[in-house]
Amino acid sequence: MSRSSPLQWSRRSAFVNYAVAVLSVAVALVAALLLEPHMQSSPFVSLSLCAIMFSAWFGGLGPGLLATALSVVGFTYYFVPPVNSFDVAPTDLPRIILLAVTGLFVVWLNVSRRGAEGALRRSEAYLAEAQQLSHTGSFGWKVASGDLVWSKETYQIFGAEETVEPTIDLVLQRVHPDDRELVRREIARAAQGGQDYEYEHRLLMPNGAIKHLHVRAHRVKYQSGAEEIVGALTDVTATREAQEASHTAQANLARVARVTALAQMSASVAHEVNQPLAAIATYAAAGLRWLTREVPEVDEARACVSHILEEANRAGEVIRSVRDVARKADPELTPLDINEVIDEAVALLKPDALRHCVTVQLQLASELPLVRGDRVQLQQVIINLAINGVQAMATVARRARVLTIRTEQRESDQVLVAVEDVGIGTGPEGLDRLFSAFYTTKPDGMGMGLSICRSIIEAHGGRVWASRNIGPGMTFQFTVSAYRSRCPL
Ligand code: ADP
Repeated sequence: MSRSSPLQWSRRSAFVNYAVAVLSVAVALVAALLLEPHMQSSPFVSLSLCAIMFSAWFGGLGPGLLATALSVVGFTYYFVPPVNSFDVAPTDLPRIILLAVTGLFVVWLNVSRRGAEGALRRSEAYLAEAQQLSHTGSFGWKVASGDLVWSKETYQIFGAEETVEPTIDLVLQRVHPDDRELVRREIARAAQGGQDYEYEHRLLMPNGAIKHLHVRAHRVKYQSGAEEIVGALTDVTATREAQEASHTAQANLARVARVTALAQMSASVAHEVNQPLAAIATYAAAGLRWLTREVPEVDEARACVSHILEEANRAGEVIRSVRDVARKADPELTPLDINEVIDEAVALLKPDALRHCVTVQLQLASELPLVRGDRVQLQQVIINLAINGVQAMATVARRARVLTIRTEQRESDQVLVAVEDVGIGTGPEGLDRLFSAFYTTKPDGMGMGLSICRSIIEAHGGRVWASRNIGPGMTFQFTVSAYRSRCPL
């Protein structure tokens, strides 16, 4: 990529810089000689200082020093009596020294400012380069005055010309319609004094392309008392698309694995149950034959019935063992801080929530008793309920997608966990039906999530249930026993 280096400005030919210094002093000299007859005192000192300043600003230290030296020479020769000679009376020496010192001071000032400007320009150029490489733009927003400043990369991300003045309206115009409410809420929070911000939203570009942005910002208070929201936004489209693809692939794989496992299990259950059923049919037919003889053979028939009983028990045994497998192993119950379990579960489901632009809100009660539970299984329940909530909000556009997870103490020996969404809710059917195995309304659902949640919670001695919110969405709640009350481990 060919771009001008941040150092290029200083590479102008040295010859030009020195030539400009000589020319500036020459112009000052000629102008002073022309003006002098019309003025009471010589204008050369002022004009030569201008020439020195210009030379130092244009060419740096060397040309500045050359201009100073030439000015001192010109001043001595043309303007210090006797004129047109280098003879100097001792009384005139201070004037010449003063010009030289002032000239040097002007050169020093210019050179140090030039150095600072150069460093600033270099650092700005490197920052712009870094922003472009990392697809990260920066912005500053003075909430009180509404002044918004964007970096070059922010303009690039928003697909706007750098001549356009950035405004909140322009931001909202670009934000994907489904995410506008979320962004509006964050903007309102900033206006109300919020301190820190981290969220993701999408942009809908004029060409129909969708960009995913990760925004991080915080409030900065200056010594003057002014406040500004300063932040960075990263274009994470490539990462999100890769995650999406990997998520879809994983989901497909998991589905195939579940369907395969289910198919295998069904085949083996069918085989295991078929054998006792076939035996039952054979014994039943034989028993019938013994009983329909002219003289019924009651003993033989009894033997057949007792075989039927045995085979029926065997079939029952098969079904029971399948249930045990489905219920998995007994939970490993240990004392747990349920808030900690929730924090860990939320960390796991954060990518899913971010992807669906869902904000997870935690309202965790402090000083809860420990609960008695299996960490992994309880996490599985929380993640299952939370993912159902996130999915139920996937099509919600007109309100902020918020998933709230609450904990509270119930009576003295129970802790309650509630997972509340503002999603599409469910139809008028009985809510208990949602927990039935294989009940699903999703095209790629298995209908096993809630059923497994129920068996886990029941194995913990708790209860799980669903309710419709007064507003939109549903709340799923479960209780688990507090550790200290009933279950000394
Ligand atoms: P799956 O997610 O595979 O469908 P689940 O057992 O987890 O299986 O859920 C069963 C059904 O319950 C879902 O298909 C959906 O109809 C309903 N459901 C679960 N959670 C929610 C929720 N938060 N909001 C609305 N409906 C829900």
